Amino acid sequence: ACRPHGVHHLRQATHHATPGLTGTGDCGFGQHAPFAGVPRSTTGKHAINKTTFTDLGLRDELIAALTDLGYEEPTPIQAEAIPSLIEGRDLLGNAATGTGKTAAFALPVLHCMQHVGSGQAPRALVLVPTRELAMQIDEAFQQIAHGMHIRTALVVGGLSEGKQLNDIRAGAEVVIATPGRLCDYLDRRLVDLSRTATVVLDEADRMLDMGFLPSLRIILDELPSKR
Ligand code: AMP
Repeated sequence: ACRPHGVHHLRQATHHATPGLTGTGDCGFGQHAPFAGVPRSTTGKHAINKTTFTDLGLRDELIAALTDLGYEEPTPIQAEAIPSLIEGRDLLGNAATGTGKTAAFALPVLHCMQHVGSGQAPRALVLVPTRELAMQIDEAFQQIAHGMHIRTALVVGGLSEGKQLNDIRAGAEVVIATPGRLCDYLDRRLVDLSRTATVVLDEADRMLDMGFLPSLRIILDELPSKR
């Protein structure tokens, strides 16, 4: 089993936290010190009306995917969160299910993502409390990433390891995981998070309630110090 080593400050243990992202394209990622200052906080309640996805500066492939999905305009949490996340800021979001919170973090993660070789992945990690939520988020990422050469890997308990490990080895850029199974893979050196510069903690309060704090500490400790 994984042993905790070191204490990680879970300042980002909130609904969504993206502690700096990789230096790709024009995203400004990688230019921000980890956890510099207080993360911006949003409830999604005060978004400016009439913002469009194009106004948010999202790349063309994402705009096309959103059109295909029938998303006409950003929800309030999306309009508020996406610009900050594209700039590479940490963000603490608080929004209920049904408000579009998944796309609020999936879009900026994908906006700043490049296809990388298997030795370079994963670049982004989404941690969630349950297998069901992980599967929903994986589906959302796949729908939104349609048209991009970005792959995902699900890392969850209760499913066979074969496909999960194949997807990791093939170089999935985004890993969506529950803490227990990911910790198990880390312990067995089956996944390498040393280049994973983006982290989303979805439903972090629930993860803490479910006793995942020791696993979260181990996982966060495996991430690069500059992220
Ligand atoms: P979530 O809050 O992430 O669980 O999303 C709730 C539902 O809203 C999902 O079915 C999404 O596909 C959908 N959704 C997310 N963003 C938008 C949007 N901007 N316009 C229309 N539907 C959306």
